[in-house]
Parts: sequence; structure tokens; C-alpha cells
Amino acid sequence: MDAMPVPPWLEKLLATAFFTVCRSHGAAARSECNMYCLDCSVDDAFCLYCRSSKHRDHRVIQIRRSSYHDVVRVSEIQKVLDITGVQTYVINSARVLFLNERPLPKFGKTVSHVCEICGRSLLDPFRFCSLGCKLVGMRRNEEVKERRLILSSKEEEELREASQQDIYPRTPPSRSRRRKGIPQRAPF
Ligand SMILES: [Zn+2]
Ligand SMILES: [Zn+2]
Ligand SMILES: [Zn+2]
Repeated sequence: MDAMPVPPWLEKLLATAFFTVCRSHGAAARSECNMYCLDCSVDDAFCLYCRSSKHRDHRVIQIRRSSYHDVVRVSEIQKVLDITGVQTYVINSARVLFLNERPLPKFGKTVSHVCEICGRSLLDPFRFCSLGCKLVGMRRNEEVKERRLILSSKEEEELREASQQDIYPRTPPSRSRRRKGIPQRAPF
């Protein structure tokens, strides 16, 4: 599926609550916490003023809202993340994608494209409705790869053992004699 490994900040970004009022700048006009820093990568959103004071030279992405759901502009997120397979939408004349899975509508019509993870209907032939569902997909993919690695190394071992038995069918190695033959390393 995706060759790119899951970046360490992605899970935290998706678990972060946005659009709360900043604790330090609550009195200011634009104090809603809609920024996330990829370099600090903590589960904490911050506001415009925090950005200029604490994250000046960091990679920061801005989260926006669409009908109470968190979205991010494609132009911002694609610089730092492979978003292949995630459905994008044009909202307020900007192309965005949803951070997380949204509750499914109760009565969905039959559609040809659905999210592989949550089953939400998609407008276009994409694989995931949101970054959250893509993360689940990436994790599954990593697990499968790991399992395959374990399996193949086991298989390899079995094959090696089998081939050794083929090559030396009648020489049962005497373990004790062999062990004596190993030279002991001299102490310093
Ligand atoms: Zn702030
Ligand atoms: Zn930062
Ligand atoms: Zn989904």
C-alpha cells in the first residue's frame, strides 16, 4: 500500500482537540487554538499568538473547521504527509481533507466509492474518507508487513535447516566434541 512510514506526529495531531480558547491569550481577538506544531509534536493545539512566540521557526499547520469537523488544507498537509488515497473536498474555494472519521449518515444511498475503513461514501474513487482512516490503513499495512517478515524469516530458517539436512544426511554432529573445538578467547 503506502511505502511511507507513519510520521510520529500524525497520531497526536489526530487526537488533538482544536478550537478551544487559548489559556494564555484568552482575552485576545483571535485566541482560538487552531494550530499544530509538527516539530514539537505534543497533544496540544495553540493560537496565533503562541505560534509567533513559541513556534516561530517550526513546521506549523493550521486546522480549519467545516460543519464542526476539523479539516486541513491540502496545500499545507501535502508538504509534510503522503495523502494519497484520502478523499479531498473543495470547501470555501480551498481543497481540504478531513482529519478524522465523521459519524456516518443514518440513511446513506448506495454509492460506488466507500472508505475502506469506516464505510463512509466518497465522492471520488479514493480509499479513505479522512487522515484518521488512512492512519488505520497504514497501521494495518505495517502489521501485515511485520507478520510477513516474521513468517518469511521462519520459512527461511526451516528451508535452511531442511537444506542442511539434505546436504549432510548421515553426519549427526557430535555436539560435545564440537563445543570443545571452539577456541576460547584469551582474556585481556
Ligand atoms: Zn495562545
Ligand atoms: Zn513548535
Ligand atoms: Zn473513513
